[in-house]
Amino acid sequence: MKNLIQKYNIPGPRYTSYPTVPYWDKDGIAIDDWKHSTLKAFEESNDSEGISLYIHLPFCESLCTFCACHKRITKRHTVEEPYMDTVLKEWNLYCDLLVKQPKIKEIHLGGGTPTFFSSENLKKLINGIFKRAEKFKEFEFSYEGHPNHTTKEQLQTLYDLGARRNSFGIQDYDPVVQKAINRIQSFEQVKKVNDWSREIGYNSISHDLIFGLPFQTEKSIRSTIKNTIALKPDRIAYYSYAHVPWIKGVGQRGFDDNDLPKDDEKRHLYELGKQLFFENGYVEIGMDHFALKTDTLI
Ligand code: SF4
Repeated sequence: MKNLIQKYNIPGPRYTSYPTVPYWDKDGIAIDDWKHSTLKAFEESNDSEGISLYIHLPFCESLCTFCACHKRITKRHTVEEPYMDTVLKEWNLYCDLLVKQPKIKEIHLGGGTPTFFSSENLKKLINGIFKRAEKFKEFEFSYEGHPNHTTKEQLQTLYDLGARRNSFGIQDYDPVVQKAINRIQSFEQVKKVNDWSREIGYNSISHDLIFGLPFQTEKSIRSTIKNTIALKPDRIAYYSYAHVPWIKGVGQRGFDDNDLPKDDEKRHLYELGKQLFFENGYVEIGMDHFALKTDTLI
């Protein structure tokens, strides 16, 4: 078992790109091929099941040193408007290409930090998308929020625009781990955004945790999971930390390889997390994902 864990304890393709990076064609894709595959996918699904949009909102106010996502760090909120205008310009290019009005089944806002953007700009984005599209009958809208940068007004605005699910990046509550990953956020702050979401009426709140971060121990993971369960999120994502310090721009050099839990220790943190979720009323619904047994959306 130990040999197997060591053998497969290597970075894999990241889920954030499709196709995943090893399958990218280094010569790029010709514009006509791109148009052809977009149209084909659209025609196959628009009427029968609707289409889904993922919109990347890449700005964050500070850099978490574990993060390998595509993001830009800035506190200048003047970037918001030109970014939204550019996304809507791109959406119009798609709409010009498509032969019929798109029927949108799902929208997901990811990042970066979607809640970096003001309520006004989030409204502009979603209303702009629906100027040239209609909602499919079972419409779903979800987004990611940063507990330190999400206001009640943003939660309400997104709810009014149709969002019923959100997910918050928690990662770890331990102060030593939080300092190493430069992601300082208190339990009280997380509780606040969690409670507001409930009050407003969101029917699925998810918390993202990461195992394998620097300085994590069995004790710190137990305490993080205890705090998480106290807030009863409908879903918990329990991701493995991917250490990819060679990727340009990834701020992961603030800690050393020696500060990370070793392969079998990391495996133990994963098994422990799973066991604690099961003991507290969660079931596994997919790789790294758990849901409360009472979750009506399972
Ligand atoms: S983890 Fe999230 S908030 Fe932190 S830098 Fe990455 S995208 Fe931004």
